[in-house]
Amino acid sequence: MDRASGGGEAIVVGRAMVEAALRYAAKGWPVFPCAPRSKVPLFANPHPRHGVQRYRCRGYRDCGRLGHGVLDATTDPDLITGPMWGRCPTANIAVACGRPGPDVIDFDVAAGKPGLVSFARLRAAGLLRGVQALVTTPSGGWHLYFAGSAGGQGNGAVARYGVDFRGTGGYVLAPPSYTAHGRYVLADHRTPTGREVDFAAIRAFLDPPGTRRRHPPVRATDHSALVRWLRAQRPGNRNNALYWAACRAIESGAGASALAGLVDAAVGTGLSRREARRTVESAYRTA
Ligand SMILES: [Zn+2]
Repeated sequence: MDRASGGGEAIVVGRAMVEAALRYAAKGWPVFPCAPRSKVPLFANPHPRHGVQRYRCRGYRDCGRLGHGVLDATTDPDLITGPMWGRCPTANIAVACGRPGPDVIDFDVAAGKPGLVSFARLRAAGLLRGVQALVTTPSGGWHLYFAGSAGGQGNGAVARYGVDFRGTGGYVLAPPSYTAHGRYVLADHRTPTGREVDFAAIRAFLDPPGTRRRHPPVRATDHSALVRWLRAQRPGNRNNALYWAACRAIESGAGASALAGLVDAAVGTGLSRREARRTVESAYRTA
């Protein structure tokens, strides 16, 4: 992974951040700076902590000062090159989500979250059509960019499926931003179609209201095919693969011995036993 090295990033970054910020702004996406290596806005709120203005002020346009986070987001090149990145060229780039910015879905894999499994299921269900860009995040997850929706979908999450939606009022760090764990990297992009993503449909698909149930074990099922499939997985995908296999096994009524077989197969591919057990337990909680 392309990790930002400690100490030298100011030289590496140069004008790269401000130039990228200007490119986003030229697309019509409002941006604002976050602190270097951080997701926290660069400027502190300028209003007194308990004052009314702190809650009423709608950002730079209102009071002429920076420090309102996403409310300060702008496409104005003078503001971007001057007060924003002029003061701190290594500041990360936050893109404000929701029209005119993009809607973004964050597929999270940190702490064993099954974001990439959810991605595969949603894609197979046709719920991710219209992706404009795919950005890999420092934690190994993905950001999928879509056209900002006209209806203004707000932020939302289906946390246990590792899916986090950023719409109006939300923001994401965009390439070439970086944290202590690595960089945000544009991995793929396509010609925008204007097609919007429907987060309500995604939530309903992953977490259908009122239909969650456990299937009783109706018959002894042969799980050896899952074990074989698991053994063939690439190293980077082992944890997600184990999670997926465990979900399928649990759905089909697998008992403890079948799940232990999956843990053994995963350990055989190089996953630690502790990690494998944790992943299977997390599949149990989601199933
Ligand atoms: Zn203000």
